[in-house]
Amino acid sequence: MHLDSSQQLFDRAKELIPGGVSSPVRAISPFPFYTSRAAGPYLWDADGNQFIDYCLAYGPMILGHRHPAIIQAAREQMEKGWLYGTPSLLEVEAAARISRLYPSMEMLRFVSSGTEATMAAIRVARGFSGRDKIIKIEGGFHGAHDSVLIKAGSGAATLGTPDSGGVPADTAKNTLQVPYNDLAALEAVLAAYPEQIAALIMEPVLGNIGPVLPEKGYLEGVRRITKEQDVLLIFDEVITGFRLALGGAQELYGIKPDLTTLGKIIGGGFPIGVFGGRRDILEQVSPRGGVYQAGTFNGSPVPLACGMATLDIMEKERVLEKLEASGKEMRRALQDILKDLDLPYSVVGIASMFKVFFGMEPHNYVQALRCDKAGYLDFFWRMMRSGVFLTPSQFETDFISAAHGSDVIQTTLEAFASCLKS
Ligand SMILES: *Cc1c(COP(=O)(O)O)cnc(C)c1O
Repeated sequence: MHLDSSQQLFDRAKELIPGGVSSPVRAISPFPFYTSRAAGPYLWDADGNQFIDYCLAYGPMILGHRHPAIIQAAREQMEKGWLYGTPSLLEVEAAARISRLYPSMEMLRFVSSGTEATMAAIRVARGFSGRDKIIKIEGGFHGAHDSVLIKAGSGAATLGTPDSGGVPADTAKNTLQVPYNDLAALEAVLAAYPEQIAALIMEPVLGNIGPVLPEKGYLEGVRRITKEQDVLLIFDEVITGFRLALGGAQELYGIKPDLTTLGKIIGGGFPIGVFGGRRDILEQVSPRGGVYQAGTFNGSPVPLACGMATLDIMEKERVLEKLEASGKEMRRALQDILKDLDLPYSVVGIASMFKVFFGMEPHNYVQALRCDKAGYLDFFWRMMRSGVFLTPSQFETDFISAAHGSDVIQTTLEAFASCLKS
């Protein structure tokens, strides 16, 4: 496999862009490949290599790359203009449609990224409750802002810098951590800080430390305890939304959070974020209430049009049912491969999410960190040489798109078998 052009691009990029990349998860060791185009389940790099893509831009591309219906939706919206600075027809329609799928989101607002969505959700939780502290789950990722950059999974965990420089100690002290799948730890923190905690923010299924699944009764317990203690529950469904079900993890597990954040899939591959929840809480948001939130690109028409076109296809073509079947096929076959090779690794996932952990199935962040990171990276490059682009970190989830047919999955499994063996 030749990567000469990517290497040259990296040499230039690292002089211009910190680490040569625009986001830390893209910093594959020793250097990343630079993509020139994408279609369906494939990416092509600057040297003309073709890869089957299981990273899928870390989640948004659930229909695969350059789906014709999304090209058409973007084109039609472009013909009508792409930024108005006024309210638009589209945002009212889109808000109604999302609120129907997520009944817990009685009101919502569109922003431009998942980061902005969680930042706003946390601010409104603080404004509503009059409390400063929040709890997050160790290894949970909620974007790159001060309150949540603490033991934040994926990029941060791979690079071994779970805390970020530049976060004031006064901010960090308001973010408490509890392990996932541990109700006793949650109860202990709530007891230690009575009436000081505004909210618990969590990914219902951890997506940024691999996929780590909730044990039976865990999410129900979280909902019961937060309600009893009068602490708001924020489900960050930026990954799980429109993926575990159209109505997200909250539909699948039957849990009603107070606030929800969405992003990724619902922009059709364009930048978006959404935060919403209980009417009495969202009425605190400006200009209705006193909690400020604003953005030039909020409710941007092209992402909304492409998000709605994505939902149209997902509903019409029963995409989630098909992805459920593909995910099952992939996980079952991977488990068989591990068994045949007698490897002490694990396959974890749900719906269209999967991961081979180089270690035992983790139930929280600390357990995930015990996996063989270096072994995974070596395996990652073997898969690349076989034409398969998995997420480059042991701590990122692999995704399957609607464009990954069974022939593509079969090719992938053959690569898995030979690379795991070698
Ligand atoms: C990706 C992600 C975010 C951040 O979204 P951006 O659009 O990258 O800002 C927040 N929360 C979760 C769970 C995510 O996976």
